[in-house]
Amino acid sequence: MDFPAYTPCRLCPRQCGTDRLGGAPGVCGETADLRIASWGPHMGEEPCFSGTRGSGAIFFSGCSCHCFFCQNWQISSPRGKGGTVSAGEFHRLALNLIEMGVHNLNFVTPDHFWPHIEALCARLRDEDVQIPFLFNSSGYQLPSMISRYAARMDIFLPDFKFADPVLARLVMRDERYPEIALEALRLMVAEKGFLEPFDPAGADLARRGVLVRHLVLPGHLENSLRALDLLREEFGRWLPLSLMSQYKPTPAAQSRPPFDRHLSAGEYQAAVDHAQALGFENLLVQPLAQSDDFFPDFEKDNPFKGNPEAG
Ligand code: SF4
Repeated sequence: MDFPAYTPCRLCPRQCGTDRLGGAPGVCGETADLRIASWGPHMGEEPCFSGTRGSGAIFFSGCSCHCFFCQNWQISSPRGKGGTVSAGEFHRLALNLIEMGVHNLNFVTPDHFWPHIEALCARLRDEDVQIPFLFNSSGYQLPSMISRYAARMDIFLPDFKFADPVLARLVMRDERYPEIALEALRLMVAEKGFLEPFDPAGADLARRGVLVRHLVLPGHLENSLRALDLLREEFGRWLPLSLMSQYKPTPAAQSRPPFDRHLSAGEYQAAVDHAQALGFENLLVQPLAQSDDFFPDFEKDNPFKGNPEAG
């Protein structure tokens, strides 16, 4: 299968124009060869996605963000871990997940391999696969791509990482992140609406719409407060929002204080208090002290201790 959009590649906001079909890796670190680092039923998403049988997560190698504290750094770094997969193998892998009984197909960091994913999703729908398809992303998406994503996806699960352009520049070398992500989120909400049903307990699984995630970072509470303000201004108090506390220093963050430490209880509580003061009605919060069950180690066959053994 030929995917001309890989050359010159302008699939993400980096717009680097790389000849990926010719074998060159873009800023995302990937050529036109589809690479997958891990896949399997994943119990570590919000309950409305993981349910009882898991979200059918497919973790792609590479990423266009390259945040230095990325918890998936082993696979998201340029030429990180992962194996090349043909279009036929990709299809069989998806069917395997569906046969395992997962509640949805969860494409994790999908944008730089979108042509492969778009073709797979079209084929699966032609084959009458009915479960929701989920676009699990950084928020750093090209606004002009959102309608193409929406034509194939049922659920958008974007991050809104940075409201502070200076912080975005420091972490991922692009100060445009806040404006790019906000515009992408606007378009996602316009295409799909808010997540429905919204059941924090996960008894009623999500079928369609947008849920936004924000990870509170150590030493950068102001970024979180501003991010919450912006989300409230843009989308109102009914926006489904997952406020995450799971930050853990990675090797690359060890020499970059304050990213070299965990989030404090006070920082996370201050972010939760602010979200509640803003009146967010569909807010998911996490306990601060968590096990490592869903902090990945992609050197292992099963990267997530909390998951059943998988591919
Ligand atoms: S997806 Fe990769 S190659 Fe394409 S524009 Fe983005 S960084 Fe460049």
